[in-house]
Amino acid sequence: MKSPKTPTETHATTSGYRVRTQLIHGKSKTPKWDYSHHVIPPITSSATFRLSSSQRGAKGFFEFACDTMDTKRHVPIYIYDRLDEPTRGMLEENLALAEEGEMAVCFATGMAAITAAICVLVRQGDEVLAHDTLYGCTYSFLTNWLPRQGVRTQFVNLRETDKIAGAITERTRVLYLESPVNPNLELIDMAAVRVEVDRANRGRRPEERVRVVVDNTFATPYCQRPLHLGADVVVHSLTKGIGGFGTDMGGVVIGPRELHNVLMLYRKDLGGVLSPKAAWNVLVYGLPSLAARMANMQRTALHVAEFLAHHPKVARVSYPGLASFPQRALAEKQMVDYRGKFAPGSMIYFTLKDKSGHNRAAERFIDFVADKAYCITLAVSLGQIKTLIENPYSMTHSAYQAAAGGKAPGHKNRARGIEPGGVRLSIGLEDRHDIIADLERALSVA
Ligand SMILES: *Cc1c(COP(=O)(O)O)cnc(C)c1O
Repeated sequence: MKSPKTPTETHATTSGYRVRTQLIHGKSKTPKWDYSHHVIPPITSSATFRLSSSQRGAKGFFEFACDTMDTKRHVPIYIYDRLDEPTRGMLEENLALAEEGEMAVCFATGMAAITAAICVLVRQGDEVLAHDTLYGCTYSFLTNWLPRQGVRTQFVNLRETDKIAGAITERTRVLYLESPVNPNLELIDMAAVRVEVDRANRGRRPEERVRVVVDNTFATPYCQRPLHLGADVVVHSLTKGIGGFGTDMGGVVIGPRELHNVLMLYRKDLGGVLSPKAAWNVLVYGLPSLAARMANMQRTALHVAEFLAHHPKVARVSYPGLASFPQRALAEKQMVDYRGKFAPGSMIYFTLKDKSGHNRAAERFIDFVADKAYCITLAVSLGQIKTLIENPYSMTHSAYQAAAGGKAPGHKNRARGIEPGGVRLSIGLEDRHDIIADLERALSVA
């Protein structure tokens, strides 16, 4: 840790400052825009850009997503919002910084980012190897849409790292996972996955290598940086913890510089670009407050998880911060904040005891919350300053059920750890006593 520089030097450099501070100030100098006279970066929001000459237009098109361009130093020639524009560009610089990655490309939603990350890495005939429990729409994409492009997905339990070597085939190009897993908060050992993937990649040409893609939405970069743990590419739903306030949707792919241009080209042609108005909210409100929000929310999450763990009507609580969390050692290794402190996040998953065996207790509990609770809201999404509750089995992860009820044999087993009576809780910034009081009242009727 270097000591802070003198004021004149600080204007030009962010080095020596902690990430938490950098997330608030961003880059004081960026080729995207000179905002050295702004306290808040500008929202420019222009669908098209004035070109001073046809040569400038031609140069702009030539330089867009040009592999030889130094995108870090180069001042882009802006042409049209769907190609590139400054407000989103500034957010991308800061998101790369937050994940400590080389570059970031933003998309309209988390799903647009996830599908882009996978699609730029696979061709017809290739395969994806994915953990068997995933966010419902990701699972639906891999099973309903990717096969139409001739790309097959094999689902395995990536917690069993000894199975990975046998599951990787000659055609595998992407190994895809979430950790913590949505919704049950299982963890995948990313360093162990990396070892297996490195072994499989030995002797492969660069374009044939397996890339590890990690959805870091649950943890946020404040609690975990997968690029340091073995991931090649990180994806996020900006709609969740990074956006933080529930006002906008967005997604991002963060990874090595070599993927920047192909992602920009993909985004240009598929069109799922993040709007500058949404980007500005994440740039000005979401990212700068990420550390403060997460630090507070995870402190509350531990209190709530402990309350639940001791409640007689609760069968099982999954929260990486609990001493009883089965993968506690792995949690401490993987989930750390920018200062290296244990950062188990703000998400809790739990199940209720239910003698009926028909999931009635969870239903009564959630309906009571929806009707009577003041500071807990029945809603999907997560990572907001408001505490949200939902039933993944029937809501966010219903794609698994649809598959199990349908024709595809074997799908049922893939929904491991998404019990009908499971409850997902996303802790917000309310006073923890109020959250616990609302839960206590609802549990009394469960
Ligand atoms: C919500 C979510 C997504 C999808 O993000 P959208 O912004 O809703 O498209 C992907 N992965 C995880 C883990 C999520 O929670």
